Amino acid sequence: MSRTSSPMEILKLLDKSNCRKCGKPTCMAFAVAVFNGQKQLAECPMLEGSVVEQYHGSVARHVPLDQDLNVTIERLKKGIAAIDLPSSARRLGATFADEKLTMKCLGRDFSVDAAGNITTGLHVHGWIVVPALNYVIDGAGTPLSGDWVSYRQLEAGQARYPLFAQMCEKPCQKLADADTDLFEDVLSLFGSPIDNCHSSDLSFVFYPLPRVPILIRYWKAEDGLESNLSFLFDSTTTENLNIESVYLLGTGLVIMFEKIALKHGLQLP
Ligand code: SF4
Repeated sequence: MSRTSSPMEILKLLDKSNCRKCGKPTCMAFAVAVFNGQKQLAECPMLEGSVVEQYHGSVARHVPLDQDLNVTIERLKKGIAAIDLPSSARRLGATFADEKLTMKCLGRDFSVDAAGNITTGLHVHGWIVVPALNYVIDGAGTPLSGDWVSYRQLEAGQARYPLFAQMCEKPCQKLADADTDLFEDVLSLFGSPIDNCHSSDLSFVFYPLPRVPILIRYWKAEDGLESNLSFLFDSTTTENLNIESVYLLGTGLVIMFEKIALKHGLQLP
């Protein structure tokens, strides 16, 4: 029996026709669902039986994301205990007082002590805690360049970009298309608008971590052209945060936007 360790490996098995016969809109969405144990490989009628048999049982036992993140958080807390927090604070331009390193995440204080205990004004979710702890442990503290690049242009971002587009940019674009005014209100809760950013209809910059800003730009559909939405990152991003955590920040932000928008009456098609 062969094994798979990521949605991209599962995607490689599929014919990538996006025919929707499995009930998912794209082969990538199906690959992610299989990876998370929500779908079985056999539900793709385009796959040959020999391939299904070869991978049977190897792709539906992945740990659910939340559980996976909790395990990662516990491991990172041990990593925090092994570093010199005051020196991390100096490197990252954070403050160190009352035995805690404190920095701003999305405008709220995020503090961690030498045992990895966290206090923050944010809701504590794995998608922010894992990147924040990784940032404290490994972040180089490189100053921002001011040059914005796409996820695929970040180091090791090219291979992961299809998943990032599927799980982050596309769902975010769907929110913006469904109700642009409400989407703008939600963005303004956590980000700052930027005027005239490449003629986009909406541009907001977010600071989920001090030296890991994210720029979201959105163009409405017009004159027969489809809408467009992109996430951009400072070109120094992966010096301050690993690419997996950058992915978590992006997808976590979108899940948060969606929850808030739905709470305020957004109707998704
Ligand atoms: S049925 Fe198979 S080929 Fe068609 S969209 Fe789903 S995964 Fe892709």
